[in-house]
Amino acid sequence: MTYQSINPYNGNTLKTFDALTDQQLETALTTASACFDTWRQTTFAERATIVAKAAVLMREQSEQFATPMTLEMGKLIAQSHGEVVLSADILDYYAQHAEHFLATEHLTPSTGEAMVVNEPLGVLFGIQPWNFPYYQLARFAAPNLMAGNVVMVKHASCVPQCAIAFEKLWLDAGAPIGAYTNLLISHDQVNRVIDDPRIKGVALTGSAQAGKSVAARAGLNLKKSTMELGGSDAFIVLDDADLDKTVAWAVWAKMNNNGQCCVAAKRFIVVDELADRFLEKFSAALALLKCGDPMDIATTLGPLSTEDALQHLLAQVELAVAHGAIVLMGGKRIDRPGAFMQPTILTHIQPDNPAYNEEFFGPVALFFRVKDEDEAVILANDSHFGLGGSIFTQDVEWGKFVASRIETGMVFINHPTWTTSDLPFGGIKNSGYGRELSHLGIQEFVNKKLIRVD
Ligand code: NAP
Repeated sequence: MTYQSINPYNGNTLKTFDALTDQQLETALTTASACFDTWRQTTFAERATIVAKAAVLMREQSEQFATPMTLEMGKLIAQSHGEVVLSADILDYYAQHAEHFLATEHLTPSTGEAMVVNEPLGVLFGIQPWNFPYYQLARFAAPNLMAGNVVMVKHASCVPQCAIAFEKLWLDAGAPIGAYTNLLISHDQVNRVIDDPRIKGVALTGSAQAGKSVAARAGLNLKKSTMELGGSDAFIVLDDADLDKTVAWAVWAKMNNNGQCCVAAKRFIVVDELADRFLEKFSAALALLKCGDPMDIATTLGPLSTEDALQHLLAQVELAVAHGAIVLMGGKRIDRPGAFMQPTILTHIQPDNPAYNEEFFGPVALFFRVKDEDEAVILANDSHFGLGGSIFTQDVEWGKFVASRIETGMVFINHPTWTTSDLPFGGIKNSGYGRELSHLGIQEFVNKKLIRVD
């Protein structure tokens, strides 16, 4: 298997990398396992020095990190710089707070003394997607390295340059060889790594399909796993929403990262009273996006990550239309080189349309008109996914009440679902299980060991 770095803006192959041989993989596992034996003995302060240094290097070398990201998967260059900062923030956050989050908990049993201590599990295996090439790695690596685990990562096959840059970052920051290991490996090798007794936990971020395969394999081995999977987030507009502000957020919620966010707004659910005006303003705003080279700061619509991703999305749109959806705007690839998709709005999607339960990963918005709050909530919850969602209203208390009725892992009011280091991130249903980031993310792969004194 070869890992290919291809620029989706023009189809040019930038670099190719051979996957590891089985022997090289075995050596990497041995090295990581040996590293754990020493890494677990280090203090929080020693680990924090390295993790904080990695944050400093990311910020100092923003250009070196951001450029390959834009070249390999098409993220607009300003957003790539933003992701570098976000990733550095996550590193800093855990460097600063890990010791407190994992402090020994003293219990008050009816007799004697008892405490729960948090100990690292060992070598962890992360399988990561291309859409946030560094943020995904940071949110897996930072808490787990700070907890005393070591990590091995199989990154998505279309972003090998980012994967390699992030591994080098740790060595540059002073981490020992084996603390963070990038693995350019095949799906078969992924399964063998999960089976390997030296691996103590598995974290996947990716599609529900990959989640089912990896979670099943981890389960067969009785290994703890977390699954951060896809979504079809509802963007609910209630009848008192400030329409101009809401539409501005709707454009961001749909188009950030060229529409390729797990928590992008995918289903726009708007009450009848505002529906026509919302659609008019939303489509007008989408029509203003300017496609072009994502390295050019003036571009506002970049390509999808790969030609395959574009073909998949076009096929989804075609299938949706064959089942009765109406294309309000867009629906086709843009007539130019590169993996560009027209900003698209689909309406009239009935429950028997495959689109009703699919994730559209790109600039395609599904629009639904509803009578009122109740219909909006029923529709929002009628999904196989349960990742995020957002509610727009000028009445925050009403927004909180509606949020309490939404069956997802995250709901934002008057803002699209988004992420910062101090907020937990994760979903329910086919969007997975477990949480990353915040005080919760660092608790997933530690042994909460009870010590009891009589
Ligand atoms: P993907 O195709 O599922 O791939 C994710 C990772 O899993 C890649 O490294 C991929 O490797 C690997 N993989 C896929 N199938 C596998 C299998 N059967 N066995 C072993 N490894 C496998 O997803 P993607 O296209 O990269 O990312 C987009 C998806 O991720 C979307 O569904 C998005 O919503 C989701 N996502 C979720 C979150 C969250 O936090 N919930 C965050 C970001 C993205 P290869 O590249 O080599 O196939």
